Amino acid sequence: MRTIEIDQDSGFCFGVVNAIQNAEKELMQEEELYCLGDIVHNNQEVARLQKKGMKTITHDDLRALQDKKVLLRAHGEPPSTYQLAAQNRIRMIDATCPVVLQLQKKIQKHYQNLPPNDSQIVILGKIGHAEVNGLVGQTEGHALIIEKKEDLDQLDFGKAIYLFSQTTMSLDDFKEIVAEIQSRMQPGVTFQFYDTICRRVANRIPNIRRFAAKHDLILFVAGEKSSNGKVLLREAQKANPNTFLIAGPEDVNAVLLSDNQSIGICGATSTPKWLMEAVAERVLNFS
Ligand code: SF4
Repeated sequence: MRTIEIDQDSGFCFGVVNAIQNAEKELMQEEELYCLGDIVHNNQEVARLQKKGMKTITHDDLRALQDKKVLLRAHGEPPSTYQLAAQNRIRMIDATCPVVLQLQKKIQKHYQNLPPNDSQIVILGKIGHAEVNGLVGQTEGHALIIEKKEDLDQLDFGKAIYLFSQTTMSLDDFKEIVAEIQSRMQPGVTFQFYDTICRRVANRIPNIRRFAAKHDLILFVAGEKSSNGKVLLREAQKANPNTFLIAGPEDVNAVLLSDNQSIGICGATSTPKWLMEAVAERVLNFS
């Protein structure tokens, strides 16, 4: 007899819940609301809000927009976005996650207080990710982004280094980068690092490992763009190699389920609960 369990620790973090609540509140009063970038890295949730009147726009679209309401999602934005919005008389609904906001301020403070020729602000993060763009913007574009150990070659180890992290990076990767920089720094040169990884994500790693190890098959529900989803998927796969990334119920089929008896359904911080429930329903149809 097949059993199905949905991981109670998976799903939206408070930053995403807050952004969606802001959007829904606005959409109850207004017919249209613009959102700068996908509100969450999950196509189904974006589509659900689009049906209610939310329109996702790009930064190029924002340049052409005037006198409208625009929601800023949890990832945050660089100062240039706020300047552009002010020029275009755009009313902002700022749903930047407080954890990201705090990190932006910390980086900005370091940038303002450090001599740019003698120091480097380094961010461990994904190039082009919205949160990282917002962080780099606090340094007028001067911060260096590293994604992996190999990228460290671009740093000058004879010059002070201040290392931060995108909130959704893996704690193990951060520790590895710190150890590598420490081993390469020239004697007497400052190296300070700040563990700015959000514990809403980091704490999910031990949870997801436990959950994945409990089941025969793991269906990991997430959008391909979710950076936190990639981290958690990797951890689930380490604990249970029979783990598969799916976008939603449409990806569930008899071949995937095979003769596995205990099915675990989990996801990223950007995965809506209703979507995991829909996957469970679909699995039930094959039982
Ligand atoms: S993962 Fe953490 S920092 Fe990112 S939006 Fe969620 S609560 Fe905020």
